[in-house]
Amino acid sequence: MRLILLGPPGAGKGTQAHRLVEQHGIPQLSTGDMLRAAVSAGSEVGLRAKAVMDAGNLVSDDIVNAIISERLDQPDCAAGFILDGFPRTLVQADATNSMLASKDMELSCVIEIRVDDEILAERIGGRYTCANCGAGYHDENVKPAREGVCDHCGGTEFNRRPDDKPETVRTRLQAYYKETSPLLGYYYAKGLLRPVDGMADIDAVSAQIDEVLANL
Ligand code: ADP
Ligand code: AMP
Repeated sequence: MRLILLGPPGAGKGTQAHRLVEQHGIPQLSTGDMLRAAVSAGSEVGLRAKAVMDAGNLVSDDIVNAIISERLDQPDCAAGFILDGFPRTLVQADATNSMLASKDMELSCVIEIRVDDEILAERIGGRYTCANCGAGYHDENVKPAREGVCDHCGGTEFNRRPDDKPETVRTRLQAYYKETSPLLGYYYAKGLLRPVDGMADIDAVSAQIDEVLANL
């Protein structure tokens, strides 16, 4: 199964990708996570990407295309993968086509997670993750069973993303509508687009995705 999760920042792509990884045993390829790891490691890519990410703009196509092309060659992608946050521009979508064709891989479908802007702001505003295992939480929607303790690993340190501030979120949403939303028409025309209602609760969104995948 080779999936793309498409949707604005805060739509729930990472949340659903984590569930799909557990269900199907295929990796989540999140360019956002990979770039944040590069920034933390202080690598050359990280140094080039940091200021762009902090401002809420998109990192250059060349950088993310190269990251994904290399990642797709890893053995764990042979049985499938979930692209989360990539592609994000038409140039990246064309590059994805070429990469997959050259690796003899075919996309199964593109799942669009639809969520209204006001809800996105709430979801991003309340988002935090476990510093140890990366599990995602939300101040109101997804609280750990014991306050301050991660359900998955027992960790007690949590992070909030610097680009989740309201000023930066506006820029990120603009980037989504300007650069990424044209991909909806692109994949619709290819017969690959499968929209789901991302306003529903997490389990209900997962159930819609399961239904899409059952009908592939
Ligand atoms: P994305 O990866 O698309 O940016 P996330 O998966 O990080 O989005 O979700 C953003 C925030 O919203 C997280 O704090 C997450 O726990 C919460 N969230 C995700 N899906 C839902 C949902 N269906 N209903 C309510 N909250 C959600
Ligand atoms: P995300 O974790 O998907 O919200 O991405 C965080 C930030 O990383 C984005 O705001 C961009 O600056 C950068 N980024 C992630 N994926 C891409 C991509 N495919 N193309 C360009 N920039 C990206």
